[in-house]
Amino acid sequence: MRFFNTYSREIEEFEPRDPAARLIRIYTCGPTVYSRAHIGNFRAYIFEDLLQRHLELRGYKVHRVMNITDVDDKTIRGAREAKVPLAKFTQQFKQAFFEDLKTLRIKPADEFPAATEQRYIDRMIDMIGVLISRGLAYQAEDKSVYYRINKFPNYGKLAHFDLTQLQSTGRVKHDEYDKEHIGDFALWKAWDEEDGDVRWDSPWGPGRPGWHIECSAMSTALLGDQIDIHCGGVDNIFPHHEAEIAQSEGVTGKKFVCCWLHCAHLLVDGQKMAKSLDNFYTVPDVLAKGYTGRELRYALMRVHYRAPLNFTWDGMNEARESLARIDEWLARLHEIAQKENVQLSTANAQRPIEKSEFEEALDDDLNISAALGLLFESIRETNRAMDENKLDAATASAWLDWWKRINTVLDVEAEAEIVVPPEVAQLARERENARREKNWKRSDELRERISVLGWEVRDTKDGQKLARRAAK
Ligand code: AMP
Ligand code: ZN
Repeated sequence: MRFFNTYSREIEEFEPRDPAARLIRIYTCGPTVYSRAHIGNFRAYIFEDLLQRHLELRGYKVHRVMNITDVDDKTIRGAREAKVPLAKFTQQFKQAFFEDLKTLRIKPADEFPAATEQRYIDRMIDMIGVLISRGLAYQAEDKSVYYRINKFPNYGKLAHFDLTQLQSTGRVKHDEYDKEHIGDFALWKAWDEEDGDVRWDSPWGPGRPGWHIECSAMSTALLGDQIDIHCGGVDNIFPHHEAEIAQSEGVTGKKFVCCWLHCAHLLVDGQKMAKSLDNFYTVPDVLAKGYTGRELRYALMRVHYRAPLNFTWDGMNEARESLARIDEWLARLHEIAQKENVQLSTANAQRPIEKSEFEEALDDDLNISAALGLLFESIRETNRAMDENKLDAATASAWLDWWKRINTVLDVEAEAEIVVPPEVAQLARERENARREKNWKRSDELRERISVLGWEVRDTKDGQKLARRAAK
């Protein structure tokens, strides 16, 4: 398996750090929950989902962490403007994020640590203390603590950045006058009035962590000092990931990440997505246009992660057509696979399935376009064989088995129609009445009874939705 490592800017053979355990530790930078995530963010999360699923298909066990940034300048500003406590403000966007993950069939990470959890705040404070003791950080006159980038010789290696340029071209913002170097970044931001009640005590006075230290603390807490793969979008490379390296390695003295993977940005109609350009979409915006989660999943996945992806409504329609071809192909294969002993007019005329070709394409730096090309070539060939009545049941079954395997990575099959058993439907109707009468106690009891029967009820703005309960 080979990946393009941003650190070396080269395609490298991938070796897990712990080959015996076949366990791969992945850290993925998650959303900043100050608004609903947009489809550009989900391009990054779908690329990470594809990575995880492919590694699993190849027999690795993956331990993946995705952080939730629930304290930073943007979340604090949003809470202040909405006049609600920070935790309440961020909660709605956390919930929306998890709904969108589900809609797009993105496998949840093993852990979703939030920056404001006390154990991580404690760890951030500990790490900052170590950095100060090693001369890698200092408290400035404004009481904030900054990383002293000149003292970390590898600073700039990930972004291939020359520090002298930073000195000559950097514009000094008026509020950063007391930093030693324009590139020094905040580890701890001293409290000021605008922060309101968002504050934690620290040896340097009340304040809050900087964004970068959050990820260093959460990744080392949950995945250890050294991890296999760290992902994000290209905008994360500098300064965020550069800072993560300086902080983590500054504390542990060990190489933080073996392989850095970054996805290119999603554009909309060839332009950067921006609220001001009216081309800014969230997952519900796309659903409101009549598309499904799996169509959006497919549209966001089908372009190689290092190539910019241009989102257009024509592209969404193409995704819909591609999925319709897959659906139709699967329906035909199922039909033939079920007709066991039917004699064909001629011998089975099918090239043998090269079972590993799809996976080998993905081994090559997640070359999804090549992998999908192969899928559609196979669809064309089998359709032709079926048209000519030259595909026997055993071969159809073999194709279906192959699909089942590759669909563990793609996860784009149409959902089987959900048949709700009558007793569950009856309880759901009773619950609807109970809710109309604002009888929340009875509503909760009915939810419990529905749950015992193996179903989960969700309350949406269009009323109740039933789904099979996930196995615990
Ligand atoms: P943020 O919430 O801004 O910290 O972003 C969360 C993740 O989405 C990060 O990994 C970003 O690099 C990524 N991201 C942000 N905008 C885009 C975009 N337009 N296309 C692809 N990924 C993006
Ligand atoms: Zn991060």
